[in-house]
Amino acid sequence: MFGMLRLRALLPCLLFAIATTAWGATYTVDPLPQQNGVEVTVSIARPSMQFRMPAWAPGDYRIVNFGTNLADVRFFRGGVPVPSEKDVQDPNLWRVAEGADEVRYVVARVRSGIFSENLRVTSREMFAQWPAVLGWFDGHANEEHTLRVRALTADSKVEAALRRLPEADSGYFTFTAPDFDSLIDAPLVMGQDLRVHSFVVAGKPHAVVGFGRSVPSNLAEYGALCSRIVGAAFRLMGELPYERYLFLIDFNGPGGGLEHMNSARLAIPSGAPPRAMAGFLAHEFFHLYNVKRIRPKPLGPFDYTKPAVTGSLWWLEGVTDYYAEVLLLRAGIVTPDEFLDEAGRALNMARRARSVSLDESSRRVWEANNSSGYRVNYYTGGKAVGVLLDLAIRGATDGARSLDDVLLALYKETGGGKPGFAEGRIRELCVQYGGASVGDIYDRCVMTPEPLPLGDVLPKMGLEFRNGLSRAPGADSRAAALLEAWLAADE
Ligand SMILES: [Zn+2]
Repeated sequence: MFGMLRLRALLPCLLFAIATTAWGATYTVDPLPQQNGVEVTVSIARPSMQFRMPAWAPGDYRIVNFGTNLADVRFFRGGVPVPSEKDVQDPNLWRVAEGADEVRYVVARVRSGIFSENLRVTSREMFAQWPAVLGWFDGHANEEHTLRVRALTADSKVEAALRRLPEADSGYFTFTAPDFDSLIDAPLVMGQDLRVHSFVVAGKPHAVVGFGRSVPSNLAEYGALCSRIVGAAFRLMGELPYERYLFLIDFNGPGGGLEHMNSARLAIPSGAPPRAMAGFLAHEFFHLYNVKRIRPKPLGPFDYTKPAVTGSLWWLEGVTDYYAEVLLLRAGIVTPDEFLDEAGRALNMARRARSVSLDESSRRVWEANNSSGYRVNYYTGGKAVGVLLDLAIRGATDGARSLDDVLLALYKETGGGKPGFAEGRIRELCVQYGGASVGDIYDRCVMTPEPLPLGDVLPKMGLEFRNGLSRAPGADSRAAALLEAWLAADE
């Protein structure tokens, strides 16, 4: 008994000592509530000659240059200050000719991004979306990372989708991440007023974490809704590929939603009825599969120094939005008629000829500075194409296959840390599961700005389009059966 107790007491200290001194990078974050900011100290074991900040943040496809947020940047080697030079061309790069093993800087009063608050620090609460706050020393991004965040107050609680170490370090919360990508993909919220509603799906723990200006009392309702969404995703995808998942809800916060590997941050009005937020919750949650794991090569591992150009953002955003609706349908949160109405709205918004293809809209989003598409919105366009490809594959295979097969094949090829897909792979899988006719529909929908070929797809599914999607009168029984299969709930 004695030995075990001793070991248990010592283990956290040992782990912490190893994590901070033997290898890897240690990030210490001290909140500065008066400045609405933080002081950051990054320490590494072997000196490096370059320190960088991300030029952009995953999920928000714009060059932001987070290096411009840094103030009072000081480099050290063995505790002694060393001179540094900020690159004249690149606002995210500092050079240290002698090499440095530590940098300290302040990040304060950072503007919110399109989708997420970047940094908010008050005397009661802190939220950090790390790409705006944390940089990396060249040569160290793939090492084990340790994050230490000083508690705002003695009774502060903290949540982040990172592995948490026992409290061995007085006054600090300590987490580890296998690399820089994983570290900055786990936003952190801390404060004395955090509200947490936990639930379990398929043996995996989940939590709705309410924070922000006005946390409502109905977190349990959000929990029940999220639980049904997670259940539908589990039945579709076959697994929940995380140890724990967090819905971080910033009530009355700025921006929209931003997805992460094992969490999402969502801004929700505190008076909103939870059911009205179901599609939004499902969209951000489903991203843990589609964009965080199912992804093209440029979207992980990331190169934060330049645009990650891909023609597939219509799939990653628009088809995620389509599957958000599918999850709500299969979970029984919306009725088949509500689902049909929503699919019809998506087709109506995107059916006409566009100025550029969705492929071009995706690739050139970096020129648009809007994170939603170059000249054409790839959210609405991609959602409509998701509807149409699903119907086309079902119609072409007499219901034997669907877009689920394409999604699952992509997941099998890219999930579990495997490399991302090559451009063109989605088309190949559409043809593999739906046949050559679906390849033609794909080309017209994705690679050209032509109107969507509704007339080639809808009749086989017993559907027609008249400013909305409706059951075609006089459809044969086979088409009607295909339609009912598309509209079926799981249970
Ligand atoms: Zn999204």
